[in-house]
Formats: sequence, C-alpha cells, structure tokens
Amino acid sequence: MADPRGFLKVRQRETQPRRPVPVRIMDWKEVYEAQEKGVLKAQAGRCMDCGVPFCHQGCPLGNLIPEWNDLTWRDKGEEAIERLHATNNFPEWTGRLCPAPCEASCVLGINQPAVTIKQVEVSIIDEAFENGWVNPLPPTRLTGKTVAVVGSGPAGLAVAQQLTRVGHTVAVYERDDKIGGLLRYGIPDFKMEKEQVDRRVEQMKAEGTRFRTGVAVGTDVTWEQLRRRYDAVVVATGATVPRDLPIPGRDFEGVHFAMDYLVPANRVVAGETVENQIHAKGKHVVILGGGDTGADCLGTAHRHGAASVTTLAIGKQPPADRAGHQPWPTFPTLFEMASAHEEGGERTYLASTVEFVGENGKLTGVKVAETEFVDGKRLPKAGTDRIIPADLVFLSLGFTGAEPAGITEQVSAEFDGRGNVTRDGYYMTNTEGIFVAGDAGRGQSLIVWAIAEGRACAAAVDNFLMGSTILPAPVAPTDRAITVL
Ligand SMILES: Cc1cc2nc3c(=O)[nH]c(=O)nc-3n(C[C@H](O)[C@H](O)[C@H](O)COP(=O)(O)OP(=O)(O)OC[C@H]3O[C@@H](n4cnc5c(N)ncnc54)[C@H](O)[C@@H]3O)c2cc1C
Ligand code: SF4
Repeated sequence: MADPRGFLKVRQRETQPRRPVPVRIMDWKEVYEAQEKGVLKAQAGRCMDCGVPFCHQGCPLGNLIPEWNDLTWRDKGEEAIERLHATNNFPEWTGRLCPAPCEASCVLGINQPAVTIKQVEVSIIDEAFENGWVNPLPPTRLTGKTVAVVGSGPAGLAVAQQLTRVGHTVAVYERDDKIGGLLRYGIPDFKMEKEQVDRRVEQMKAEGTRFRTGVAVGTDVTWEQLRRRYDAVVVATGATVPRDLPIPGRDFEGVHFAMDYLVPANRVVAGETVENQIHAKGKHVVILGGGDTGADCLGTAHRHGAASVTTLAIGKQPPADRAGHQPWPTFPTLFEMASAHEEGGERTYLASTVEFVGENGKLTGVKVAETEFVDGKRLPKAGTDRIIPADLVFLSLGFTGAEPAGITEQVSAEFDGRGNVTRDGYYMTNTEGIFVAGDAGRGQSLIVWAIAEGRACAAAVDNFLMGSTILPAPVAPTDRAITVL
C-alpha cells in the first residue's frame, strides 16, 4: 500500500489548480494547470488500500484504484499506466471529464475528504503520453472476422479498440467529418482539448482499426447492407434527440437547442468557418437546464462575451452535503460547481419557464414563475410570474433517446418505451448479430459508462463470433453478467 500513515499526515484534499478566471475566459484552452508532482504523490499517499475497496465498485470500469495510487506514490508511472489501461482504454477522457462516482464511494470519504482519484488518474496518463509509454497494441494474429461499429463516441471507440486488439477486422462508421462523438463537437475545448481524441485515433489506426467518416448509416448505406457485409454490427450512435419545451413562443427567433449552439462553437474553435453561427457576443442569454450541457453553454457564452448569462433549473437547489437518503457509498446529488460556474452567471432554482416572450417574431425575454410542488408534480405558482430579458435561450433539458436512423425498418431492431435501442443481457438487439452499446442503449449518460459498456459489448461480440472470449466485461446492461470464458 501507499504510505500507511498517509491519510493521517495529509488530511486536506488538494485538486488540480485551475487557471485564473479572467485569463481563461479569454481563450478556449483547458482550464486546468498541471498539479505539482510532490502534491500529487502526497494525495495518492492518502489512499488506505482498503480491504474492501468500495471505489472499485463506484467506478463503472472497475478501475484498480488502490493499485495505481500506490504506484503513483512510489513514482512508478510506467507500471501505473499499465494497471490503469488494464481496465480503461481512455483514461485521459475520464480523468478530465468523469464526475468521479469512485470518489463518492472512497472509504476515506466517510470521515475525511475522499482521495483525489480522478486527479491521480489523469496525471498517470498525461505522464505516460509525455514519456512515450502509450503505444499501439496491434493483434498478433487475425481471426478473419469483420465487425462494423456505427458511431465514434467513447462507446464505439472502446468496442472497436477491444475487438481490433483480439484480431477482428473492425471498421468504424461515423456520419460526422471527424471521429470522437460528443467528445469532438459536443464537449468544449475548455473541458478537454481535441488533441486528446486525435492521439487515440492515431493509436487505433496504427493498431489496425479502420475509420469511415462522412457516412450516415441508414441513409448513405443501409443497416441491412452493413449486416450482410460484416459478421457483426455494433450500434453506438448515442442518444442525440433533444428534449423540447413546447410552450408559447417556442418558435421565436433566438430559442435554440443547446447542441445547435455548442456544435458550431466547437467547429469554429477547431478552425472551421461556420455560416450563420449562433453567437452570444453582447447578448442576454438564458440557459434552461442545469446539467453538463447547460454548464458547457455557460462557459461558451462567457468566452463569446455574453452581456449576461442566467441558468434556470425547475427543481430545488441540491444540498452541499449528502442528504440522508443518499448515504455513503452511493453517488449523491450535490450542488455542483463546474469550472464554468466559477466564471460567472446567475443560477436560479425553482424556476418554471411558462412562456417565451418576444416582438416581431424575435425573442425578448423568458416568463418564469416559482415552482411549487403539488401532489408530487412541479407546477408554476400562480401570481409569481416575472420576465427575464433574453436575446438567446438554450434548451439543455436532456435527451429523449437515440435517433431512429432507419434501424427498425431496415433490420427490425426495436426501441423501448424510453427511446433506447432494446438489447438483451449480452448487448444484442432483437436482430441476431446486431449489438448496441453506450447511450444508444442506456440513454444519455456518462463517458465512463460508455467506455465500460463498449468494453463489455466487445466481449459479447467476441463471444458471439468465436464461441469464447478473453476480453473483460465490466458491466452488463441487465443483471445477467457476461460469461467470460
Ligand atoms: C454537451 C454535453 C456535455 C457532456 N459532458 C460530459 C462530461 O463532462 N462528462 C461525462 O462523463 N459525460 C458528459 N456528457 C455525456 C457523454 O458525452 C455521453 O454520455 C457519451 O459521449 C456517450 O458516448 P456514446 O459513444 O454512446 O455516444 P456519442 O458520444 O453521442 O457518439 C455517437 C456518435 O454516433 C454518430 N452517429 C449517430 N448516428 C449515426 C449514424 N446513423 N451513422 C453514423 N454515425 C452516427 C454521431 O455522429 C456520434 O459521433 C456530455 C454530453 C453532452 C451532450
Ligand atoms: S473513470 Fe471515473 S469513476 Fe472510474 S476511477 Fe476514473 S474518475 Fe473514478
């Protein structure tokens, strides 16, 4: 174990410093600065190497957290990355973007601040890239089997990397011009710069994975054609259908889905020219919804030079500490201070949006009322209406599921009542040989779940193709675990 008295000597939790707000909102670079090595080691040394490490369970990937905390404390970076890669294909993504459910279940967290697990994770992989310890791992032999993976987000890429490494010939189909899914054009650079995606794609190409961009499966090529051409097909198309708010004034110019704002903004940061880009410079912006998407709109609007930004959430402000019904080691709902929230803007809770108001077809404001709870329903309280001036509204109210994309008509794969592609306990849809992983099957979720599902789905596909598999399967979509032979 790391320092046996580490958690007694170092009682304070120290995370990565962030660049000063006035400096960082002038650019699109990541908001973080590297953590000083000595501080990082001392923090890793707080890990108690518990007999029952609940953090393993908290992490959907089952990351071997105490092992790499120990190796970090001992300055054995090359061994640490080997242990980290054993369970996680892309720790530079989770280390930057994961909400770290592992830390919520850290045993030290019972009576002290939790170990900075996510911080240690990102430092291990960043050091590994710097030192050239991340190399392609091509297969030693080919199986002669072929797999098409549709969608190049974290789920699709995890499936593809696992299956390529065991010798299958894998092609990733992506309708966008670049690989990465939401990591590429959804999540802004100030949370993760795109170099982090590019270098993994290079690694995967060197391992033998093939990439076909600019191909929308369902229209450019049918699912049925793909199924005939390949031995197996994996649907990893994400959950991209946005939830709308069909209230009066929805059609006013200035009311947009969040992704219609974020995607072009990310393209411009990548150096592209975008016609008619929605831009927040000098505008009063209202964001409906307080999740990751809302926070990304907030950080983007500040970098665009918005006059004001207000985030409205219909529910109550979450507590700063665990509520009684969410005891350790569960992942609690807490008041979150993302980097974008540090940069300014107003956050209003218990705000029900009643109407968009405007003139001559253009948005001028948002009518909101206080939320009241009646028979468990959230309703606008009569007589509490007020108007917030707004030139732009971004709807970041979540996503209702995967796009149909012709999959039911072309290969009879079905959707469930929640808008997700149906699958069995082995990630297979109701059409033999067609699998589903990530948000397309579980609904809009997290990167760590997408990678975990991608790894497990790869094990299921390998088992389907070969009759057995050596690939690990961290999670099952239902309570039926995958048999690893
Ligand atoms: C704005 C935003 C911010 C987020 N921030 C975070 C965060 O900070 N931390 C976190 O853990 N999670 C975050 N998430 C959630 C996370 O990004 C997703 O859970 C994750 O990307 C899901 O991965 P996926 O591979 O299943 O799908 P996606 O990443 O959505 O990728 C699906 C890919 O499939 C492609 N595709 C779709 N249909 C077709 C088709 N017919 N043919 C070919 N290609 C197709 C799409 O173009 C896309 O590239 C965020 C989500 C959003 C929207
Ligand atoms: S992937 Fe997320 S949950 Fe797992 S160890 Fe990293 S930060 Fe924790």
